[in-house]
Amino acid sequence: MHHVQQLINGQFTKSSTNEWLDITDPATQEVIAKVPQTTDDEINQAVAAAKVAFQTWRKTPITTRARIFLRYQALIREHMDELAEILTAEQGKTIADARGDVFRGLEVVEHAAGIANLQIGDYVENVASDVDTYSVWQPLGVCAGITPFNFPAMIPLWMFPMAIATGNTFILKPSEQDPMVTMRLVELAVEAGVPEGVLNVVHGGKATVDAICDHPDIEAVSFVGSTKVGKHVYERASQSGKRAQCMMGAKNHAVILPDANKEQTLNQLAGAAFGAAGQRCMALSVVVLVGAAGEWVDEIKAKAEGLIVSAGKNDKDLGPLISPAAKERVEHLIATGVEEGASLMLDGRGLTVEGFEKGNFVGPTIFDNVTSDMQIYQQEIFGPVLCIMRADSLDDAIELLNANPNGNGTAIFTQSGAAAHKFQQDIMVGQIGINLPIPVPLPMFSFSGSRGSKLGALGPYGKQAVQFYTQTKTVTARWFDDEASRGVNTTISM
Ligand code: NAD
Repeated sequence: MHHVQQLINGQFTKSSTNEWLDITDPATQEVIAKVPQTTDDEINQAVAAAKVAFQTWRKTPITTRARIFLRYQALIREHMDELAEILTAEQGKTIADARGDVFRGLEVVEHAAGIANLQIGDYVENVASDVDTYSVWQPLGVCAGITPFNFPAMIPLWMFPMAIATGNTFILKPSEQDPMVTMRLVELAVEAGVPEGVLNVVHGGKATVDAICDHPDIEAVSFVGSTKVGKHVYERASQSGKRAQCMMGAKNHAVILPDANKEQTLNQLAGAAFGAAGQRCMALSVVVLVGAAGEWVDEIKAKAEGLIVSAGKNDKDLGPLISPAAKERVEHLIATGVEEGASLMLDGRGLTVEGFEKGNFVGPTIFDNVTSDMQIYQQEIFGPVLCIMRADSLDDAIELLNANPNGNGTAIFTQSGAAAHKFQQDIMVGQIGINLPIPVPLPMFSFSGSRGSKLGALGPYGKQAVQFYTQTKTVTARWFDDEASRGVNTTISM
């Protein structure tokens, strides 16, 4: 049996713990590896190694740091097929989607390779006579990242490349449900030249997360995961004086106006609602049909019925959910939808896939006539379940969306520039797609979820990540001209 290793001070080692969790193939329930609950001692060793390494790393030339990420991006490209295969085996998503997961992380690595263009300070000459002020963006020290199961390649790559490129050292805590592709990416980072102690990996669940939040030598924590855990991490890390950012749960709505390009819109909706079995924080889980678009329901259903569910390695349209518990939760929520009076138009429960009878499969599921008091609307289902709602006008749709506490992503489908512009102006959601269902920005921008989907001001990659992982030091300097002295100045003026 493969035992997932830790990385502490440049050494990949097996934990000395007695507590090991199973990693299972979601299509078969086969146990494919075991992951440790890293001990407190080992967590302390990892932080101590990162603290020591910081002293050298922060003074390592920025160009040297950048070149590691140039090598790293090449290594990830070379190993793309292997990475996608590992990811699919432990996470369940299709091979094509697993490649997308790795690729969206790779884009952040490419961005990190340009760090010297991003970590540029400011300089103003002659703020007073012969006085200049400049600011530099210096790394914070030891930073940490805690990641969810649904993007085990992309989300770790949102975090440690930017943190390390800016001169910090890092402690990564991958999801205990699928840490293997993350570890392979970490091995490649070491192969690319990340020095010992600069990147460390510890494993486990709540105990490890709490130890990270409390550790006095960790300066900042980046978290991506559910809203409940994110709030806990934000509060606990903040209480111990850390900088924290938490990207959390969602309920993403698509608004469909009757003038939208119908075929394109239907295809985009089906892909974004059911792709990755709905296990994306940017999945479109509510569609609001405005006016005459209300008649498109049967066509939405037909698109969903055309999707093929199978084991991820068969590379069809959607794979299984991550665990039996996730499947049970999704099926329970579907049952509450029926009880609470929504019209179940397509029921994905009870689906079996030939050859994978034990898999955590739920097929595409559609509810019509959903109202905002129902649990299927109020909770993030995180499964292939689409809720259909109606609105008389764009204004009514905007009001509905803005009343929802989440602010991760949304999309509008229309041919009207004026309608799209109004939507963009008035909607209180961080990431907006116009005729584009999953508007996750590339790293020249930042991931910008808002309201209930995010705590902390700055995003996890892009320009905002450079700010998150650095502190501004401002220097005001005067170089005396021998003739300049005009005696003692007891005021605040320069
Ligand atoms: P999760 O919150 O269960 O787990 C996230 C991390 O927290 C994991 O590393 C886990 O080990 C740890 N954790 C779990 N329970 C904990 C507890 N009680 N105390 C402390 N730590 C704990 O999330 P998940 O199920 O792995 O991921 C799915 C969630 O992540 C969804 O809600 C999804 O919307 C969200 N997500 C958000 C974004 C975003 O950018 N906003 C991106 C991806 C996923």
